[in-house]
Amino acid sequence: MAKGHSRRLLGAALLVAALTSTAACSGGSEPGSSGSSGAPAPAAGQQAPAKTAAQLAREKKAALAKRRAARAAVAKKWGLRLTPLDAPAPPRTKPRITTRKGFETDGTGLPPVFTTVPTKEKIVFLTIDDGAEKDPALIRMMSELQIPYSAFLSDYVVSDDYPYFAKMRTSQPRGVALHNHTLNHKYLPGLSYARQKREICGMQDVIEKKYGERPELFRPPYGNYNEDTLRAAKSCGVKAVPLWAAEAFPDHMEWREWDRDLHPGDIVLTHFRGEEDWKGSMPDMIRRVMNVITSKGYAVAKLEDYV
Ligand SMILES: [Zn+2]
Repeated sequence: MAKGHSRRLLGAALLVAALTSTAACSGGSEPGSSGSSGAPAPAAGQQAPAKTAAQLAREKKAALAKRRAARAAVAKKWGLRLTPLDAPAPPRTKPRITTRKGFETDGTGLPPVFTTVPTKEKIVFLTIDDGAEKDPALIRMMSELQIPYSAFLSDYVVSDDYPYFAKMRTSQPRGVALHNHTLNHKYLPGLSYARQKREICGMQDVIEKKYGERPELFRPPYGNYNEDTLRAAKSCGVKAVPLWAAEAFPDHMEWREWDRDLHPGDIVLTHFRGEEDWKGSMPDMIRRVMNVITSKGYAVAKLEDYV
């Protein structure tokens, strides 16, 4: 059938060439051939014996079970009470994010400020701020557990060990994103536009120079900002300003909402801190927050897939 089909095309090509003396045979149907050609020739490979739908489903189920078992073993190794849930596939197009009500400034066209990403999926996002504690166990734990997270770095605590965050950045197959949390962690609304710009854009430059990529996300220290903050951030490439809906500590959670609960798309904040600063290590904090997230039926997704 394929042979006959190509012979017919060849014939058509010769006919067209003879009639018009051009090579413009671009697949248009010549008179007399339409209706008689039937279905196009099958592509190579369509002839091969295909797996049945049932076989494919069985294989998919087995692979999933294997992945879940591996993740359960790693969760057990790191002392998690529950195995983290798998995040759904990222959306084909990112949701449109707008500034949360009550978080607006007078400026227009500025990067949106938000605490929750619009989604119906039972997912949350994990973000870790500042960068003081540089625990190698955190990087190992998160990459073995395959939990995505985003780090918002402040240069005054990061500069004594840039390589730690370089290692973090490449520790997971799809990367751990490093974002901007200013040079010196100042209360930005107390600074002039020029000084805010130095704090924010200076950190954009540091991250780009040290890690090869300019951040698109920026989080103001303490979550405090004004119109100048957002204008300055926009001027040096910031696209969005994610704040947080809940904050995780090694021994408790703090909630922004009255219902003291997680919601689809909530951004969870925590910090790079050690046992000198709070009641536990970084792995202790992750154990606790992951048990909260998983027991409420949520998976951790990658913030940069949605923002
Ligand atoms: Zn901070």
